[in-house]
Amino acid sequence: MKPSLLGITKEELAAHLAEHGHPAYRADQILDWVWKKRPASIDAMSNLPKALRAYLEENFSLYPLTPARELGSTDTTRKMLYKLHDGRYIESVLIPANPALYGGRADRLTLCVSSQVGCAYGCKFCASGLAGFTRNLTAAEIAAQVLQTEMLAGDRIDNLVFMGMGEPLANSKNLLQAIELITSPWGLNLGARHLTISTSGLVPQIRELARHPRQIRLAISLHGATDAVRDQIMPVNKKYPTSQLFEALHDWNAQKKQHLTLEYILIQGINDDLEQARILATHARSFQAKVNLIPYNTVEGLPWKRPEISHCQAFRNILTKAGVTATLRLEKGHDIEAACGQLRLIKETEEGIGGNAEMLKS
Ligand code: SAH
Ligand code: SF4
Repeated sequence: MKPSLLGITKEELAAHLAEHGHPAYRADQILDWVWKKRPASIDAMSNLPKALRAYLEENFSLYPLTPARELGSTDTTRKMLYKLHDGRYIESVLIPANPALYGGRADRLTLCVSSQVGCAYGCKFCASGLAGFTRNLTAAEIAAQVLQTEMLAGDRIDNLVFMGMGEPLANSKNLLQAIELITSPWGLNLGARHLTISTSGLVPQIRELARHPRQIRLAISLHGATDAVRDQIMPVNKKYPTSQLFEALHDWNAQKKQHLTLEYILIQGINDDLEQARILATHARSFQAKVNLIPYNTVEGLPWKRPEISHCQAFRNILTKAGVTATLRLEKGHDIEAACGQLRLIKETEEGIGGNAEMLKS
């Protein structure tokens, strides 16, 4: 499999060209095509010498994703299904305006990006974890979700949330390379502050990310304020219990200026006890985090339910009364199973797409 030009930094490409007898400065021109002009093929990079185009075609591929299907939702969320070179599928979800969540203008576009095929962490409530882990995405496959979705949508994407399929921090090498491509001026040139990585709580990687020079935002999928609750629904808590996680978040505070976000799905009878809200409030205040409360999205085949809306509001009120900024949101994209935690592995056959699509009521 040839590496994609979408997975390589300017410095790496320049070094590669120099090593193979081509002028290093061509890297600027090539990456200008890749990230800005977005040609249909390598051969269409018309200001490059023919010999260089031939060399690139022989040694590199261009777009790593094949658009397989697009599903629209009644609330204008759009779910993009992409086929990978090995026949697997991933999904990216385009969400117009999420100002309540991430700030900014109402006409902004947010893309929910996948980082792995499947997920090994097996949270009990999550569709992505249901079918287990298949493989990490490459840096090119991660960055291409942004580039190729922009090409399909004909619009610029303003914010990225790494909240699609997979655990981004379990694939941190490729994720960080993709972030380099996404944030560099010669790449997609998106400000790091517009990127949010969501993690179920991988402590060593959180500590590492706290020392990363770019001001990337961090969201923690907490979903329980105590070990007793978290242990029941998130196996990762056995490895990194809340004491270790909270210590890492204090460390994050010490290293970074921007605020943390705690994601908290409300699941009836599991983690929605008001005592959890009180404990959550204490922790959120201690690391100056805001809290996103998400009433659970039903996942077919799982027994969990969302609490009554009045109960969700009571849970939220405890947080706000304690001085914590807390949002309560109803998911966008619920009707196409594109909401958080609803991205699931689909079968690797064309029939698989059809079957899945039927389930998605397309
Ligand atoms: N693995 C990472 C990122 C992907 S999950 C993480 O867990 O943070 C994106 C978010 O969706 C997480 O906060 C996850 O906990 C949440 N989620 C999972 N299943 C959900 C469901 N059924 N309803 C609502 N949110 C869900
Ligand atoms: Fe994986 Fe995140 Fe789903 Fe847990 S919530 S199974 S870590 S994708």
